[in-house]
Amino acid sequence: MDNRQGMLYICSTPMGNLKDVTLRLLEVLEEADVVVAEDTRHTLKLLNHFNIKKPLVSCHEHNEQARVGQVITLLKEGKRVALVCDAGTPGISDPGAKVIAAAIDHSLPVTHIPGPSAVVTALVLSGLDISRFAFEGFLPRDKGERMKRLSELKEERRTMVFYEAPHRILSVLKDMLTVFSGRKAALARELTKLHEEVVRDTLEGIYEWARQKPPRGEMVLLVEGFKGTASKEEWWHSLSIEDHVEAYTQKGMSTMEAIKQTARDRGLPKGDVYKVIHVR
Ligand code: SAM
Repeated sequence: MDNRQGMLYICSTPMGNLKDVTLRLLEVLEEADVVVAEDTRHTLKLLNHFNIKKPLVSCHEHNEQARVGQVITLLKEGKRVALVCDAGTPGISDPGAKVIAAAIDHSLPVTHIPGPSAVVTALVLSGLDISRFAFEGFLPRDKGERMKRLSELKEERRTMVFYEAPHRILSVLKDMLTVFSGRKAALARELTKLHEEVVRDTLEGIYEWARQKPPRGEMVLLVEGFKGTASKEEWWHSLSIEDHVEAYTQKGMSTMEAIKQTARDRGLPKGDVYKVIHVR
């Protein structure tokens, strides 16, 4: 009986340019017992290009949970399993994360064959501060959910990275303008491909550019982090609205001026602060 140890190879594959394969990737694919792929037809093209013939098993959004048990059995049998997605790195806004987590939970050997991922290429080409970043993947499709997520990110200090689909880019940019107005941003599209393009501008500039000629292809949107004073760092943060207004009146402001200033500080409509002060 073959008692060699199994291994889950998380394989990064090209995201547009087949020359981005590594020697190690080809070696691992050659030696794998089975290739677990997001879309088997897509991966077959990659394998055919390099003349590699392997049994393929599909693992996509809808069957990933069911595949977990199968992959664990293969690994326990000592099989070499190569996990690939359609483009880039499995588990990064792509299926694979559950399979990886299960292998780790079962203390089975896991390794990564490094290579492309759109998040890294977009970051290094963005011209933004990349010393710290927050990867946000895809924003929710539902507009209300999306606005909620964006407002939670309003004071995020790290450069933010979003994956986006071309048919949603204009509405996403429009929503972002209400939260991140005036920020530097970058839109990186068709990375590693013939028509690779990176637009670096303010968010307003990118919106105008996209409005004039809606961009096509695969794209990543990056937005500069918050540079202001966070509301939780403001002197009034731990005060109630009443005490906040009173702090201004004690400094000599009229009640009306204090209400207006409090509303400005908190980003609230004046009427809301007025109600709190007068409905007592
Ligand atoms: N796992 C992939 C990775 O490691 O980047 C991401 C897969 S996710 C389903 C697809 C999204 O990744 C696209 O909508 C786009 O935002 C981004 N993407 C993938 N390939 C890209 C490319 N060549 N140029 C720009 N963005 C790309």
